[in-house]
Amino acid sequence: MKNHALALSISDAGWRLFLQQLQTKAELYGKTFMAVDPRNTTQTCSTCGYLLTGDNKLTLRDRSWQCPQCQTKHQRDLNAAKNILAKGIDQLA
Ligand SMILES: [Zn+2]
Repeated sequence: MKNHALALSISDAGWRLFLQQLQTKAELYGKTFMAVDPRNTTQTCSTCGYLLTGDNKLTLRDRSWQCPQCQTKHQRDLNAAKNILAKGIDQLA
């Protein structure tokens, strides 16, 4: 993976395969599969929609945080998962 372009292309292929497998499994179990734009899913409060910006932005080290607007305490990945689900439901509507 020293060749950056080649590494990118291999990881793209891996990601595509992963998404295909998710789609196949979802269909097998009668579930809906869709891809959503992941932008801001981590930095947005799933309770009130507040978007962290500037110095408030979470770094990879920040595993939990409290929304400065509604004071909800979030676990980083659970909050992102709620935002991703909401985006998917919005796309279905
Ligand atoms: Zn909030």
